[in-house]
Amino acid sequence: MKKQHTLKVDLPSPPPFLMKFRSIKGTKDILPADVAAWQAVERTVRRVMHDFHYREIRTPVFEQTALFSRSIGELTDIVSKEMYTFTDRSSDSITLRPEGTASTLRAYIQNNLGEASPLTKVYYIGPMFRQERPQAGRLRQFHQFGAEALGGQSPALDVEMMLLPLEIYRSLGVEAFSLKINSVGCEKCRPRYKELLKAELMKVYGRLSPESQARVQSNPLRVLDSKEEQDRAATRGIPLLQDHLCEECKKHFQGVTQLLDSLQLKHEVDPRLVRGLDYYTKTAFEITSTALGSQDALAGGGRYDLLVEELGGKPTFGVGFAAGIERLLMVLEKLEKSFVEPGPALYIVALDERSRKWAFTKASEMRKKGIQTEVDYLERSVKAQMRDANRVSAQYVLVVGEQELAAGTGKLKNMQSGAEVGVDLNDIRIG
Ligand code: AMP
Repeated sequence: MKKQHTLKVDLPSPPPFLMKFRSIKGTKDILPADVAAWQAVERTVRRVMHDFHYREIRTPVFEQTALFSRSIGELTDIVSKEMYTFTDRSSDSITLRPEGTASTLRAYIQNNLGEASPLTKVYYIGPMFRQERPQAGRLRQFHQFGAEALGGQSPALDVEMMLLPLEIYRSLGVEAFSLKINSVGCEKCRPRYKELLKAELMKVYGRLSPESQARVQSNPLRVLDSKEEQDRAATRGIPLLQDHLCEECKKHFQGVTQLLDSLQLKHEVDPRLVRGLDYYTKTAFEITSTALGSQDALAGGGRYDLLVEELGGKPTFGVGFAAGIERLLMVLEKLEKSFVEPGPALYIVALDERSRKWAFTKASEMRKKGIQTEVDYLERSVKAQMRDANRVSAQYVLVVGEQELAAGTGKLKNMQSGAEVGVDLNDIRIG
């Protein structure tokens, strides 16, 4: 007979504080205590977008990989290094969206939104995913709000894309930011300039950082906005695109700066600003905050007049922006802006079993009237219920026991002033 081996595993069950699962690096829980600030930001975004007559669009968080590689550009950091791409069970290549423009344009084309109106103005709020090295202000799942205007070539729309985030920031009390703008040219003037730039960069090739050296042939414009001191020094005095724009791009850029001037919106023309996405034409801009450290970009955007066509739609002018919510929250925290959710309007403290049932029914009646009401679910003592009412910052407390139920009246205590007023239990009015 075979000897039966019983493997004895005598492991203690894990103590409750030894966690089995943790969130993935670069992702963050948004906890109830954080939610008031998030909701304030989201509310402000919705209000401002509404005021500018943008309508919300919600697209899936994952799409065909090719949508992003096509639009953002194969050689960009996002596509070459940062996308969450996987093969699903049907062997399709899927990517979690790293930004919102590509999906919005795909939805615009697929649903024929351009047919319904010559100008489509939409906004979105939602999570984006990039496998970046996590650090303060840089996450792998982060949130953006953004907008796209499709169908118009007026510089007024480019400026509107700057005004939208700036108005959102202003409404939230953030004033310290800088707005940098540039023109990255179009298919007429950029290719010519790119060749010139490549030739110029080859002359200083040996002095460039390895990262920039790798970009000279593939993405020479990015070399210009490298943050490396070495690259800055090597490219000092190099011809800039500003001086090689075609007439149309020049005129468009002037249109943008004139409007900014007439709005008295402070801005700086940064001829080296390129931004990390390939699809921009003409205007590119970035908003940074002086309250943030190295990851100081709050928002960025620009015009992308060729992108709809590139994705299979009819030729359509387009311009948009995207802004990071976590970065904005960091600024709000630095500025010590606090967002608190007020406590429930009413907390009913029950003295016994019967009152507890009454309180539960009454609470649902009050909630139907739109009065936020809390009761005790843990069968706590009166003292503990009062403590809880304080902890949740209830505005009014009603203590109910046998006596109150028999009389049909009770006392409503204003927790701030301590004042008490008599109330009819059948007709409780708050405030
Ligand atoms: P982009 O889509 O790269 O133009 O980024 C627009 C804005 O999104 C940036 O200015 C940041 O505020 C925010 N953002 C981009 N990447 C991240 C990230 N990895 N973590 C947090 N915020 C980000």
